[in-house]
Amino acid sequence: MTVTNPTPLPSATILGYPRIGPDRELKRALEAYWAEPARHPAQTVLDTLGDLRERTTLRLRELGLTQDTAVPSEGFAVDHVLDTALALGAVPARFRAEGLLPAAPDTERGIELITALSRGTDDLEPLELTKWFDTNYHYYVPELDPGTALRAHPESLVSRYRDTLRRTGVRTRPVLVGPVTFLLLSRPETPAAHGARVDPLAGLDDVLAQYVSILSSLHAAGVPWVQLDEPALAADGWGASRERILSAVTTAYTRLTALSDHPSVLVTVGYGDAGQDAHLALARTGVDALAVDLDRGAVPTRAALEAWGERPVVGGVVGGRTVWRTNLAGATDTLDRLRAGARGPVAVGTATPLLHVPHDITRETGLDPDVRSWVAFADQKVSEVVELARGVEHGWKEISEALETDTRIREARATHPATRRPEIRERTAAVSPEDRRRPSAAERRAAQQERLRLPLLPTTTIGSFPQTAEIRAARAAHRAGRLDGAAYWEAIRSEIARAVRAQEELGLDVLVHGEAERNDMVQYFAESLEGFATTRHGWVQSYGSRCTRPSILFGDVSRRVPITVDWTRYAASLTDRPVKGMLTGPVTILAWSFVRDDVPAAEVADQVALALRDEITDLEAAGTAVVQVDEPALRELLPLRETDRPAYLEWSVGAFRLATGAAAADTQIHTHLCYSEFETVLDAIEGLDADVTTLEASRSGSGIVDGLAAADFPRDVGPGVWDIHSPRVPSFEEVARRVRHAARAIGAERVWVNPDCGLKTRGWPETEAALDRLVAAAVSVRTELEREDDDAARAGARPVLSSSGVA
Ligand code: GLN
Ligand code: ZN
Repeated sequence: MTVTNPTPLPSATILGYPRIGPDRELKRALEAYWAEPARHPAQTVLDTLGDLRERTTLRLRELGLTQDTAVPSEGFAVDHVLDTALALGAVPARFRAEGLLPAAPDTERGIELITALSRGTDDLEPLELTKWFDTNYHYYVPELDPGTALRAHPESLVSRYRDTLRRTGVRTRPVLVGPVTFLLLSRPETPAAHGARVDPLAGLDDVLAQYVSILSSLHAAGVPWVQLDEPALAADGWGASRERILSAVTTAYTRLTALSDHPSVLVTVGYGDAGQDAHLALARTGVDALAVDLDRGAVPTRAALEAWGERPVVGGVVGGRTVWRTNLAGATDTLDRLRAGARGPVAVGTATPLLHVPHDITRETGLDPDVRSWVAFADQKVSEVVELARGVEHGWKEISEALETDTRIREARATHPATRRPEIRERTAAVSPEDRRRPSAAERRAAQQERLRLPLLPTTTIGSFPQTAEIRAARAAHRAGRLDGAAYWEAIRSEIARAVRAQEELGLDVLVHGEAERNDMVQYFAESLEGFATTRHGWVQSYGSRCTRPSILFGDVSRRVPITVDWTRYAASLTDRPVKGMLTGPVTILAWSFVRDDVPAAEVADQVALALRDEITDLEAAGTAVVQVDEPALRELLPLRETDRPAYLEWSVGAFRLATGAAAADTQIHTHLCYSEFETVLDAIEGLDADVTTLEASRSGSGIVDGLAAADFPRDVGPGVWDIHSPRVPSFEEVARRVRHAARAIGAERVWVNPDCGLKTRGWPETEAALDRLVAAAVSVRTELEREDDDAARAGARPVLSSSGVA
């Protein structure tokens, strides 16, 4: 039953806007409160949120989103999934037991609760963080069992709406994660349920009851439209069949729109194509409007639009995932095709919320003006939406000026010398399959054993050592011109010396220089490569209060001069032990940058790979015997739809192999991956053909180790034995247990002992304490295994240690 509503859907809208503030105001407020709640009480966070909501609303109106409900009502503290969880009262039992009861998010108690849930307390583990679809944003995973006692907390959604209306006179549109996506993103909270197959949609009824109550409250408060985001419909792999998911969609939206006292419901599916099946399922319900992603997805089919009838559709033609100007001519075509099939009004929108892009490119006055003209950050994307909506309303002629400007800029970009450098194109075109192949694994293993002579269960770290306040201060002073180059390099050198000394004293086998010189593992390389630009204010939220400033990869990529060789050589000069050269891999460099959209990703990746290949050759010439090429983002870029995955894995694995393919047999190539859920990409990890793979593992229990063992992973692996994400120092027994388990399950000859990830966010005291235990555990298990081996030999049995053999 569709409710006729006095407020029509606006003809221009966006699905969401950056939340952290143009000058990271929210980050500062949160971190001040977390550091010193006595001086900066929770109320200061709430005040900042209210101010930001007001500024955002006024800014968006100024940019042209002038119609009622065109502006989403956001402005929550930490994460939108967590915000929806609190609106539903979904607080795990362990927090309730601590007396942290569900509370409306926009209250001091709510902020305390959000803090506990997202950061943990002395006694309680926080909610897990994981990647939001195929982006570098991380959400807090709600924990939910069918029996979880939910209770709707619509108060904050209502008060945000009212407060913004009072301050600005604008009726905004509250946003929630939709019920189906919310359930699919959630995990069971009871440990017993872990691992067991549970139906992720089992809690649907209970969850829907809360949504019904929230929608009624919003209606009572006079809210005309509510936005429910269902991006999960654009992805595969939820542990429930597609039929089951679609039937949940039908159940959910039939129920939410059955009552007369609800605001009009806009369902959005960003991050890809929902597909005809989902469109039809939604069409069967009383949903009032649908927003589709026309940046990554296709125009809905005739049949879907037919079923949708006269209800409005928002065509998301302005992409929210890249920083490039929208191809306006292309967008007008797409919108025309949508209008040809749609029976109702067509509005213009963004394909996703704009949280993945920075605020405003016009602030980047230091950027090359050509490059700047090609870029659209959030505010520019809003203007594009507004302009296209004007065209939909009054005809494309009306916006001919904007269309011509865009065409002109597009042509200038295509012919700009930086975007097409013949020598680079020739080099990538000449790459042969041989360039992606190293000598056989057996040959490499023998040559490396001969050269490195490492003990059983060798110990190493992932690369970075603590980025101390002194390092950051020196870098800031250098950037500000208060510290000259020579003094800065001296400061970095002394940090490297400190890290090498510490590792020698701790007794690690393969050392690192510690990455003191790197502000960020991608930006550091971007700054040294041709084809990249960096920004000053281009921050995007990564998780909680954490922001990153992705570089802009706009042109053909090449390496000017060696990037890492001097630092590695210096570290190596201080020790007799091997020092690993440390590089960021091509896939991760792409994943954590804003990558050009005018050349296929596979080719961009190969350009980056060739630059890294040259770097490895130079490291080898400087005497480096071990080189690590980090690919923590390999899993992150994995396409949401299964059918798209083989092509991605082909080019991503290919780029890694091109980067490492020239390394000599006796150069040991390591790679490092983190952010869990490797099971789906184990074959690809094997395809990387690295000699040693270190993985984040300690939070997954024995899952990853058992997975590697079951898959008979053929190369050396270092499943992390120390969770570096908190200052907690694991006990010797705990580390030894993990080492022993890995050695037994995988075979001791294949296992390395290392932390989960780099140590840059840790302090020195816990780093030394934990690494001391890590080395002690490796030594102890090594001795244990050797003794067993001797005993077995004496008893005439098969020796324990050679059982896993040489590949
Ligand atoms: N080498 C990097 C470091 O240690 C790896 C970081 C990562 O995996 N995210 O910091
Ligand atoms: Zn890592």
